[in-house]
Amino acid sequence: MSEPKINENRRGLIKDITSLANPDIKAAKALTLKKNRVAEKRFLAEGAKLAIDALDAGWDVETLFVARNMMDEPHVSKLAMRAVNAGALLLKVPEKAIANITRRDNPQAVVSIIKERLSALDTLGPLAASDTIIALDRVRDPGNLGTIIRTADAAGIKGVVLVGDCVDVFSLETVRATMGSLFAVPIVKATPEALFAFAKTNNAQIIGTHLAGAKDYRALGYKTKSTIILMGNEQSGLPDALAAQCHELALIPQMGKADSLNLAVASALMIYEARRHLLAVA
Ligand code: SAM
Repeated sequence: MSEPKINENRRGLIKDITSLANPDIKAAKALTLKKNRVAEKRFLAEGAKLAIDALDAGWDVETLFVARNMMDEPHVSKLAMRAVNAGALLLKVPEKAIANITRRDNPQAVVSIIKERLSALDTLGPLAASDTIIALDRVRDPGNLGTIIRTADAAGIKGVVLVGDCVDVFSLETVRATMGSLFAVPIVKATPEALFAFAKTNNAQIIGTHLAGAKDYRALGYKTKSTIILMGNEQSGLPDALAAQCHELALIPQMGKADSLNLAVASALMIYEARRHLLAVA
């Protein structure tokens, strides 16, 4: 990436930017491309809510771009001061700059640059019988991934494991779809081998989901052992080699003409069934 990197010694400062050609705006815009996110280990999050969620969860909000015309809004100015106190560089920019960075017609008042954070598989252990993990084999759709992370958070899942070549969890679309849950649930990248080894070490059952699954997902036991739910790819499903290593293969019954359920919907059904005995309305 040729644009200037975020300069550590500008942290906690407040600056006014007037030109859309400003290098900070260019550097932020570059983060819409995966290769730049990977190189920089930083990503963009749109909107005040995501910046607040990130700060609440102790993530490093490095730069906060705020549309100058929104600075007087109480929730925006409060966030801006909080971010600066937490060490963010605050850049007041023309309204157009936010649209320019995120390529959105109706941009939010705020966009932030946040340092990425992934967890190691081992940190999800040791697992208790009440723990559930969801593992996704080669998930391709950012909306699906974000929705699954959000559902995992809502149901108290221990972590989301991305197996194989998955869509980038730090893309604008995925981050947007998580609605802030990205900051609440550990996200892990792992090979299938590492996932199965982790399950063995932790005495966890791996329940694969498969259209040729032999058992109704509601008939399986989820109470006495920790569970890793393994979901297949949107197009090709769970490969035979992975399905063969699962302790159980679960089927969600269908009766209409649809070939299968959407991955995020199937994941939600599995997560809520696995955790049904733990979830209660207070
Ligand atoms: N054509 C793919 C196939 O043959 O598996 C369909 C994949 S489906 C869109 C994506 C994933 O959602 C599946 O791999 C599985 O994990 C899950 N899934 C969808 N419908 C399901 C069902 N009725 N029972 C169990 N899992 C299901």
